[in-house]
Amino acid sequence: METRPGEAIARGDGETGREVPGNRRGDRLADAPLVARDRASLAAARAALPSPVGLVPTMGALHAGHVALIDRARSECASVVVSIFVNPTQFGPGEDFERYPRAFEADLAVCESRGVDVAFAPTIEAIYPPGHSTVVDPGPLARVLEGAVRPGHFRGVATVVTILLGLVRPDRAYFGQKDGQQTVVIRHVVRDLGLPVALSIVPTVREPDGLALSSRNAYLTPPERAAAPVLSRALRAAADEHARGERDADRLRRRMREILAEAPMGVPDYVSVADAETLGELDVIEGPALLSLAVRFPSARLIDCWPIG
Ligand code: AMP
Repeated sequence: METRPGEAIARGDGETGREVPGNRRGDRLADAPLVARDRASLAAARAALPSPVGLVPTMGALHAGHVALIDRARSECASVVVSIFVNPTQFGPGEDFERYPRAFEADLAVCESRGVDVAFAPTIEAIYPPGHSTVVDPGPLARVLEGAVRPGHFRGVATVVTILLGLVRPDRAYFGQKDGQQTVVIRHVVRDLGLPVALSIVPTVREPDGLALSSRNAYLTPPERAAAPVLSRALRAAADEHARGERDADRLRRRMREILAEAPMGVPDYVSVADAETLGELDVIEGPALLSLAVRFPSARLIDCWPIG
């Protein structure tokens, strides 16, 4: 019988799990996940989880992109923990921390429907206790592309992911290809710090018109939403040229800019053809590379990327 180790752990539906030998979640019927909001209740819930444990870190407002990560974790791990935390330290001044979409009840329903075992939805103090002062600075990788436009962003990401990995102690952690630079930064941090976790990168989930799913798509006005597939069109065109043998990175950047210009309500922040590991801009594409871009629409800033080679 599963224990309910503390007051701060509550099942989303208020019920206790039932023991079912051979159930795919190990020991109980698929029902609402345990909800942990502080470190002690997470530790208690974690202690009861069969291994391997998979962690899917999110900022909530869950959509089909997040579900792809959860489903991958579910298929590879005996237990799945989803963290839901809008991390203040990865937002810059004037960014959308305050208005970032929050939908906790709906998120819990998604977790329940995908067989998540524990939803870790910490308070800010549970992640950053009073006196917190340790940060993880990933170095140069964090200062190009998104990091150049959003100084401090990846220090916030690397810090919160390191804390989440320390608290949850997963065997595997799941990240989306959608945030391509984030996957490179996290790989680097895990390697540099020798963190005992395997990483899985899950392909980007897109709308039928190519727009990558993102919680921030909700900000788009109807005309912006109609224009937004220009990002994936630009990436796809460049990836096609690469597949046809084009190796001149500048030609691919020009091709992407040409296509982005078809949607003038979006202003590009950057258009990049970079080495997939160092994220250094390339002249000639000789191996694995990352096409990436960021476009500022009046209501939202969108990013997308496409691995090639
Ligand atoms: P977020 O809640 O936006 O911080 O995203 C949490 C995780 O979901 C990150 O690893 C993202 O890369 C991933 N993710 C977000 N959108 C998508 C998508 N459209 N396809 C695949 N993964 C995604």
